[in-house]
Amino acid sequence: MKETEFAAPLLDWYRRAARDLPWRRTQDPYCIWVSEVMLQQTRVAAVVGYYARFLDAFPTVNALADASEEALLSRWQGLGYYSRARNLHRAAKEIVRRGGFPETADELRTLPGIGAYTAGAIASAAFGERAPAVDGNVLRVMSRLSDNHGDILAPSVRREIEAEVSARFPATAEAARIFNQALMELGATVCVPNGPPKCGECPVSGYCLGLARGTAETLPVRAAKKARRVEERTVLVLCRGGRTALRKRPARGLLAGLWEFPNVAGALTEAEVAAQLSAWGLSASDWLRKLSAKHIFTHIEWHMTGYVLSVDGADSQGFAWADAVALREYAMPSAFARFREAAAEIIRPLRHRTTPSPHSGGGENLSSENSILETSNS
Ligand code: SF4
Repeated sequence: MKETEFAAPLLDWYRRAARDLPWRRTQDPYCIWVSEVMLQQTRVAAVVGYYARFLDAFPTVNALADASEEALLSRWQGLGYYSRARNLHRAAKEIVRRGGFPETADELRTLPGIGAYTAGAIASAAFGERAPAVDGNVLRVMSRLSDNHGDILAPSVRREIEAEVSARFPATAEAARIFNQALMELGATVCVPNGPPKCGECPVSGYCLGLARGTAETLPVRAAKKARRVEERTVLVLCRGGRTALRKRPARGLLAGLWEFPNVAGALTEAEVAAQLSAWGLSASDWLRKLSAKHIFTHIEWHMTGYVLSVDGADSQGFAWADAVALREYAMPSAFARFREAAAEIIRPLRHRTTPSPHSGGGENLSSENSILETSNS
């Protein structure tokens, strides 16, 4: 076969059967870029709502460049992987500084946070460039189509597959706009990751070496991942006068610049928590609740023990003390969602609470609750 012949049945199928997604109805590079960044690590169904709300708040690259980081992170809350949002922001400022959106994959790759995949996705869909965009779906489809038994996490295998996709690109710009999307759609809906591929429905089954040789179901090959590191943390939901203490995370590293409840390494006992509070200039007046949660990042798991407390004193840490309304506004990672709920329950009714807590300063009557949150985010 001529390699570009492969594209014809694939694109016919795509035009007929593809899911109607909002970012497929536009050729605006900014909108396509936002969707591609959101779709990294997040499911399509979850992205649809975020995409609409984000473009509502920041309809153009100029609007995004002008936005404050707080406003941006607030719109990103729940999507996780906040470095994506920060890179979007930095790249938007750079695009405005350069005076316009780059129109080639090579130029796009010079922007912060834009790698080969995103550059190819934008350049092809917005500008009709014959540039490959190889994501997990495309790696799977292509390794099956070409019966490639290399480890798809290896850069050399990715480069091989990028070259194969490039060789199969259709000739016209109009077809090139949808070719990457068609390969991804095939991977998402027909050449699926979980369970056997639906080869009977596949528009390119006649070109598939994996099907012909009976190896498709064993592909792709992926080297085993390293186990995640487990970190114990103690999270303190400190309530005082209808407000709860928050602090900002460092500007670099995991969850950089986001807000969090004060927390320390280790699974602390109540006596250890009391000592920690004392070091911060605070003392517990009411131990209200104990809970636990787990959060899974890419390389780390946080196993969190939480204490919800009423406290007295003036802290030495410069905590922000947020009331129930402000608490909703702070950009906070979903790792703390369980604790934010617990704080909201306490600081809202504090003035009206009718059942006094059973004791002050001790922990023997503390109610305990295990709420295991398992989300995949960072
Ligand atoms: S024939 Fe089967 S294995 Fe090959 S690309 Fe199509 S769905 Fe995937």
